Amino acid sequence: MILCLACASLFEPGKDEKLRCPDCGTLVARDRYERLRRYPDRITRFGFQYRALYQEELDAGVLESRAFVLPLHEVFTFVALAILSGVVGNAAYAAVEAAIKRIRSHAGNTELVPAAEVRLLNAELDQLRNYVTEMATNPGAIDREVLAAVLD
Ligand SMILES: [Zn+2]
Repeated sequence: MILCLACASLFEPGKDEKLRCPDCGTLVARDRYERLRRYPDRITRFGFQYRALYQEELDAGVLESRAFVLPLHEVFTFVALAILSGVVGNAAYAAVEAAIKRIRSHAGNTELVPAAEVRLLNAELDQLRNYVTEMATNPGAIDREVLAAVLD
């Protein structure tokens, strides 16, 4: 699945090297797009998904397990990309919020994203926003035990 970086539409890519958004016609090169999503992919997985798991465990007592969890649906990556465009890319707050809103609304209106993933995203949005921002700007604020487990 591809996120249009111009209109936040979600679509399936064709076979061409250029990805064309069916809604607004914007073209983006596939290799550039793949590079662009690497960082939000990692930050979603480690800075949000594993961190939330380990933090919960630590809050409940002791953190001693190391887990493997399946990656989240890529719609989480797209929202993280929007958040990061504000945090590290200096996009205006209103633009970031509008992009997140469009991604969520497209996700809820397409069969490309299972309804359960949309519900999960909506339920976790605030934590995703906080964790992605913190991982990108201030990882020192993360509980040291949790950070060590995440980096393991
Ligand atoms: Zn578009």
